[in-house]
Amino acid sequence: MISSSSRPGAASHAQVITPGATLGVLGSGQLGRMFTIAARRMGYRVHTFSPDQDTPTGQVADREVTAPYEDLDALRAFAREVAVVTFEFENVPSDAVHALDYIVPVRPSGAALYTAQQRGREKAFLLERGFPTVPFARASTFEELLDGVARIGTPAVIKSAAFGYDGKGQHKITRLAEAEHVWNELEGREALVEKFVSLQAEISVIAARGLDGAIAEYPPFENRHSNHILDVTTAPALIPAPLAARAREIARAILEALDYVGVLCVEFFVTTDGELLVNELAPRPHNSGHLTFDAAITSQFEQQVRSICGLPLGSTELLKPAAMANLLGDLWADGEPNWAAACRHPDVKLHLYGKTQPRPGRKMGHLTATGRTVQEAQDTVVAARDALLS
Ligand code: AMP
Repeated sequence: MISSSSRPGAASHAQVITPGATLGVLGSGQLGRMFTIAARRMGYRVHTFSPDQDTPTGQVADREVTAPYEDLDALRAFAREVAVVTFEFENVPSDAVHALDYIVPVRPSGAALYTAQQRGREKAFLLERGFPTVPFARASTFEELLDGVARIGTPAVIKSAAFGYDGKGQHKITRLAEAEHVWNELEGREALVEKFVSLQAEISVIAARGLDGAIAEYPPFENRHSNHILDVTTAPALIPAPLAARAREIARAILEALDYVGVLCVEFFVTTDGELLVNELAPRPHNSGHLTFDAAITSQFEQQVRSICGLPLGSTELLKPAAMANLLGDLWADGEPNWAAACRHPDVKLHLYGKTQPRPGRKMGHLTATGRTVQEAQDTVVAARDALLS
């Protein structure tokens, strides 16, 4: 892996990329869209690269490049037109990152991305650095899987090591005998066996690290899932102060250990015993941080712009307690949702990502509400989402 310091001319990369410059983003979904909105507000131009057309990011970017991530010539041409490249989608082949890295700064670096884009490598990194995580075993063969399940014990969760998100490629097993069925479903891909832990809460800490090494993290947010997909986030998480402080400390230490530049989300489990365990890392802004757009002094997307451009980081202070509810394609089952009904509450903000195909489970947008208390914000956002079907 090429590190920026080993490249000729790397020193000039430490300079600030000032407004007016063009920023490149790999991936073209809603995270890129909100990054682009934040960047354009600050006077930057944005180019996006992905295999798709008329994308959530492309609709608001200055330029949408459509090519496969394997097309290294197209990637090099893209890199030559931008001052820095970042990601909104981490499952980019490492060859692609290498091709870019040779031409422009890539932030976060290919090395950080390499660690965070595969569960097995990520867990190995966390273990090696002494970060608390769920007991796990890696398995590349069926024998290793059986061995791993025997060692970890049941109930266990078997996950595909790569390309998993929103619970895809995950199977809970209660008996060793079920492992064979899961192995067949994984079709020979590397797997991770995790102990199934009893959860009190799930929280996330979104943090940014600047080029100068400064770190700023938001307070922990609390996440509730439905069918393995994030449903509602509330902020700040109502957890004991020492636990919140510890989660922030761990997130900061992870950024340091990865020598990270950019925004990273650390997802944690809080077990019923009150233990804090790192579940996974997302090397980019995160769904649980969308509420920062409306409820924090600096949004996670502005923080991404600041960090990759070498600007000082902004304040992560929350202006008010807040809640976010995802809008999935299921809401369109009986036709267009009632947008006016959701907007009737003056504290609710509507965000739609410009996707034209509302498939079940697909993230189409979200609502954010602020309130005097976390409970009030949550009640408001859930009521507003219910009103969409009225
Ligand atoms: P992940 O894709 O790893 O974030 O998993 C999706 C969701 O599945 C998590 O947010 C948890 O709700 C649940 N989950 C994943 N792994 C475990 C585990 N080892 N023990 C208990 N619940 C889990």
